Amino acid sequence: MNVDSIESLITDKTSAIVPVHVYGNICDVEAIERIAKKHNLKVIYDAAHAFGTRYKGKGIGTFGDASMFSFHATKVFHTIEGGGLAYGDSALKDNLAIFRNFGLAGPETVVEAGTNAKMNEFQAAMGLCNLENIDGVLAKRKAVVERYRERLDSVKGIKLSAIQDGVESNYSYLPVVFEDEFGLNRDEVADKLAKDNIYARKYFYPLVNDFECYKDEYSSYDTPVAKYLAARVLTLPLYADLAIEDVDRICDIILK
Ligand SMILES: *Cc1c(COP(=O)(O)O)cnc(C)c1O
Repeated sequence: MNVDSIESLITDKTSAIVPVHVYGNICDVEAIERIAKKHNLKVIYDAAHAFGTRYKGKGIGTFGDASMFSFHATKVFHTIEGGGLAYGDSALKDNLAIFRNFGLAGPETVVEAGTNAKMNEFQAAMGLCNLENIDGVLAKRKAVVERYRERLDSVKGIKLSAIQDGVESNYSYLPVVFEDEFGLNRDEVADKLAKDNIYARKYFYPLVNDFECYKDEYSSYDTPVAKYLAARVLTLPLYADLAIEDVDRICDIILK
């Protein structure tokens, strides 16, 4: 989220700002807090990419009024499916418990249109097992990312995301931008890798505002930076047990 664009988009109907931390990088939480205070707005972060990320020594879930985490199987920490909410105001606790359990305040009392967002015991058990290993997982991911950076950082036409001051990343993704001077475009690089059974993902592609179902409501021309990046980003394979030799093999193919 470009913090310089937020204020011009606030109207009298605005009640909250919903920024997304992406790739384990974080939003400008300080600027967002200043804007939210000034306009009396809530801040609810999508922190699905940021489990384990810390800023100035504090867990990322401590910023804003609430942060949503996804524990889907593809995330750094997972419970197979599921998620979690971190929030500062303990008065929210009872409301949220009702909301996630069909709006039931008692066996015969439904006080709001709730949803079924409960986590079952089996998923919770999976999460507890994964939590035991999380520090090791993050350390291994860090080593993988550092190797990718060593190999790709100075290559002409390749751009990696900046390392942010004060941020301990969770190394959840390795987005690579293939600019025109690289010689091959993003799709061509993805095809070359796929020939060697290496499957890199195009992120965030297609853009949400280009989805068929939103075609009459939104336009990706309103988000030019996202539109530019959606055509050029490839996230390279990244998981805790990815061997450094395999990182080298992937980089060799890209460099060749
Ligand atoms: C995975 C993800 C979600 C969705 O999480 P679910 O657990 O599938 O609901 C939302 N936002 C971002 C940025 C994600 O990566």
